[in-house]
Amino acid sequence: MQTLESLVLGRAVVGSDAPVALFNPTTEEAIAEIRGGGIDFKAVLEFARSSGGPALRAMSFAERGAILKTLSHAIHEQREALIELSIQNAGTPRGDAKFDIDGATGTLAYYAALGESLGDRRTLADGEGAQLGRTPRFWGQHVLVPRLGAAVHINAFNFPAWNMMEKAACALLAASPVIEKPGTPTALVAARIARIVHDCGALPAGAWQFIAGSLGDLLDHLGSQDAIAFTGSSRTAAILRGHANVVRQNVRINLEADSLNAAVLAPDVEPSSETYSLFLSNLALDMTQKSGQKCTAVRRILVPKARLEEVRADLVAALAKVKLGDPTQAEVRMGPLASKAQFDEVRAGITRLAAAGTVACGGAERARERGWFVAPTLIVARDAEAEVFHADEVFGPAASLLGYSGEADQAARLVARGGGGLVSSAYSNDADWTERIVAGLAPWHGRVWLGSDRMAEQALPPGMVLPASIHGGPGRAGGGEELGGLRGLAFYQQRTALQGFKSGLAGYAPAESAKPAPK
Ligand code: NAP
Repeated sequence: MQTLESLVLGRAVVGSDAPVALFNPTTEEAIAEIRGGGIDFKAVLEFARSSGGPALRAMSFAERGAILKTLSHAIHEQREALIELSIQNAGTPRGDAKFDIDGATGTLAYYAALGESLGDRRTLADGEGAQLGRTPRFWGQHVLVPRLGAAVHINAFNFPAWNMMEKAACALLAASPVIEKPGTPTALVAARIARIVHDCGALPAGAWQFIAGSLGDLLDHLGSQDAIAFTGSSRTAAILRGHANVVRQNVRINLEADSLNAAVLAPDVEPSSETYSLFLSNLALDMTQKSGQKCTAVRRILVPKARLEEVRADLVAALAKVKLGDPTQAEVRMGPLASKAQFDEVRAGITRLAAAGTVACGGAERARERGWFVAPTLIVARDAEAEVFHADEVFGPAASLLGYSGEADQAARLVARGGGGLVSSAYSNDADWTERIVAGLAPWHGRVWLGSDRMAEQALPPGMVLPASIHGGPGRAGGGEELGGLRGLAFYQQRTALQGFKSGLAGYAPAESAKPAPK
C-alpha cells in the first residue's frame, strides 16, 4: 500500500507514527496510508523563512507570475492521472474531479497573468498618496510590502487540489514561502500535486513544503511575521485562533469555515422565465456537485409561501435526474461522501433536519449497499423560523426548503440567522426588491449573487468561486477573505504608511501604466 510522503527541508519524509488509512469511499477499501511524525517543525519554518522567503522576495511580480504559470502547466499535464486519483480517493465523478483540478490550474493561471501585468514591481501602492503638510512636500503613501515569515496553509478535505493551489497562488505571488497541510481523507490528490510542484523545480528551495499528517508542534514555533490560512470546520478554526502561541505572537490568521448559504426566490419570478430555470438548475447542481461537500453549496432555499409546493415538486424532479452511483461510470453525476466520518455526520444532520420538517426526497438512509452514499435530500420545513435550519450545516447533498412572506426584508432577516455566510443568491427581475435584498444580505456575506433574466445566459453558478471575486465571509464563515484579484495578496503583505518628501516616495506611487487585472 502506498504511504504518502511529506516534502520538507528539501527531502521526502515518511514518519514512524501509527498509520492513518485513506480509503476509496465507493468500495470502502483502504488504498493508502499516512504516517506522521519524524519532522522537526521548527526547522521546517526556519527553512521557509531563511531560504524560500528571501529567494521569492528577490524576484519581481512578473518573475513570480512566470513560476505560477509553470506550475499551472505542470499540474495540467498530469490532469488525467489526477482525475483518476480524485475518483478513487474522493469518490468524485469525472466532472467533479475536473472542477477541483481545473480550478487549481485556472486559479494559478489567473494569478500568473496578474503577476505578469504587475511587471518589475516589488512593492504595491495601496491607493493614491495624500498631502500631509502645508504643501505637497510632506507626503503620505500607503504601500504593501512582503512580510518576512512563512505561510502555513491548512486545508479541508473537500477540494484537495483547488483549496491548496488557490492559497498557494496568492502567497507565492506575494513572495511568501508556503507550508501546505492537506485534509487527510483525500490527501492522495494533494500529495501528487505537491510532488509535481516540487519536481518541476520552478520554485526556489524552501518556498514549497508539504506535510502529510499532523502539524505536530509547528504552531508553537510560529512568529509574528508568519501567517496561517485555514479552511475547514468552525470547530478547528476556534482551536487554531485560540492557540496560546498564535495569540501571544499575534500570528496573522485567515479562517474560512462553515456557511449556511441561502438561495432566495422573489415573488416576481414567473415559472416560465429564464430566471426560474436558472434557479432550479443552480439548486440541483449545488446540492449534488461534489455530493454537496462544497463550502458554497446552498443549504437553505427560501421561496414565497404560495410557491412552496411548485418549487418542491420541480426541485424533486430535477434532483431525480441526477444519477447516483459508482463515480468510475461515465453516466454517474453524484458519487459517495468522501469518508466514513462524513457519512456518519451527514446522516445524523439529515435526521436532525428531518425531525423539523417533511422529507421531500432522499433521507438519512444508506443509498447503496456498499460505499458511503447518501441520496440528494430535500427537507420542507414545518416552521421556517426553527433554529435547526439556520444553525446546522449538513455538509452533504441536503438542503431545506423554507417558506417566507415574499418581502425581501423578511427573507434577508431569515438568511441572516445563519450568522454570516460565504455566498447567498437571490433571483428576481424586480429592481426594488433586488435593492432591498442586497441591503439585507451584503453585511452578512462575502459574496451576493444576483440571478435575473438579463444575465441568465452568461451566468456561472453561485457555488463557483472565481479568483477575481473574494471568497470568505463574516461570522460563522470565519471572518476571512481569500482571492479577489490583488486583494488576495494583502494577507501575506504588510500595509505600511510611508511619510516623507514627496519626490522620495515617487517610486512607491500607484503605477499609471499598470494594466488592469486579467478577467
Ligand atoms: P476540519 O476537520 O476542520 O479539518 C480541516 C483541516 O484542519 C484539515 O487539514 C485537518 O487535518 C486540520 N486540523 C484538524 N484539527 C487540527 C488541529 N487541532 N490543528 C491543526 N490542524 C487541524 O474540516 P474538514 O472536515 O476537513 O472540512 C469540512 C468543513 O470545512 C466543513 O465544515 C466546511 O464548511 C468547511 N469548509 C469551508 C470552506 C470555506 O472556504 N469556507 C471550504 C471548504 C470546507 P486532518 O484532516 O489531518 O484532521
